[in-house]
Amino acid sequence: MIICKKISAVRDIVKEQRGQGRSIALVPTMGYLHEGHLTLVEEARKSGAFVVMSIFVNPLQFGPNEDFARYPRDLERDAKKAEGAGVDLIFNPEVEEMYPAKNLTHVEVDELGDSLCGASRPGHFRGVTTVVSKLFHIVQPDRAYFGQKDYQQYLIICQMVKDLNFPIEVIGVPIVREEDGLALSSRNIYLSPEQRAEALVLQRSLGEAENWFRQGERSALTIEERIKELIRNESSGEIDYVEIRSAENLHRVEQIEGKIFIALAVRFGSTRLIDNKVLEGM
Ligand code: AMP
Repeated sequence: MIICKKISAVRDIVKEQRGQGRSIALVPTMGYLHEGHLTLVEEARKSGAFVVMSIFVNPLQFGPNEDFARYPRDLERDAKKAEGAGVDLIFNPEVEEMYPAKNLTHVEVDELGDSLCGASRPGHFRGVTTVVSKLFHIVQPDRAYFGQKDYQQYLIICQMVKDLNFPIEVIGVPIVREEDGLALSSRNIYLSPEQRAEALVLQRSLGEAENWFRQGERSALTIEERIKELIRNESSGEIDYVEIRSAENLHRVEQIEGKIFIALAVRFGSTRLIDNKVLEGM
């Protein structure tokens, strides 16, 4: 496995691999790898491609009061995990390599980034789409892999690829969870043992919501309110949002039909966790 810090080195290696007839897969991450990230790699490897993983904590997608400075970083640990999972190249640039001077060009997807996490984190998705565009131009992958844990991000990237004609197939990978149901996240290490236990309410409430849905409940508002009640009753988590939206275009739905997703964002202390469940209505 190769570790590159420089854009020019990545370009050279990718070109060489293409010359040998390999296709290229990209797995963008911010590092501090867990099984969620490694599942994306596993999917990427299935295509037989040369697998590039980017590890870059992108300052552009963090708000001024967010956790950019304390976000966990450990390249040595990540390199071991990535190599074990079969990554061929890690691209781990310094901030100055990605943004050498003041960055005046941004990529922004209208509408899809305004709600849910975009409403709570202004500028977040603009930072994501800008860095992912840069990574797409640097690596020029045939396929790029994104987790559906960040379902809104996944939809936004799909839209960007379509709108800007990137010749890239975007592949969404289902959420990977701990055995007890907590969605894996690099931010889970911020949780105290008590908060970690309380955070299980996210997955539990999504499971309950699915039960209500299966029993015939179709009112989005009713399900949203019942989830909120459950979270408030069973944890000290502070709800950021609980919303049911179309899984195709993020539009609000009143009566559940077609493919929808239930999106949750809840704070435990200073740690904001997200989770979701996709349901197929009748
Ligand atoms: P991050 O390092 O948190 O920016 O995540 C990098 C990629 O891994 C994104 O596409 C995430 O959606 C994906 N990812 C993170 N956690 C999970 C998870 N628990 N299951 C599936 N994908 C995940």
